[in-house]
Amino acid sequence: MHNETPITKQALQELFGESVVSLRLELVRVSEPRKDVESARWVVYFAARCECGVAAMITIEVMADRSYEQVHQALPGLHQHLASRAKAFYAMPCQVHQRMGRPESRP
Ligand SMILES: [Zn+2]
Repeated sequence: MHNETPITKQALQELFGESVVSLRLELVRVSEPRKDVESARWVVYFAARCECGVAAMITIEVMADRSYEQVHQALPGLHQHLASRAKAFYAMPCQVHQRMGRPESRP
């Protein structure tokens, strides 16, 4: 079947890069699956940034052997996960954010 295209880094960036902006998330990077691990996964890193300067990292994982079509079908669920994590971060008061630390002030 020609529609069983393996998922690629570029495809993941395209699927998530634009669509997470409305969740107030930013796609930071996509790490490729390790080839020497049996249950290897793609890991997509997103940042949620509050106006107070604190950022939280949110990730999703996709099994390395998934096809483009499978990831596309799973998008609503993955988005829901991201949306709930983003909502939880933005719902916290900034005093809580400050206690989580400012990643950019680390040495
Ligand atoms: Zn804050």
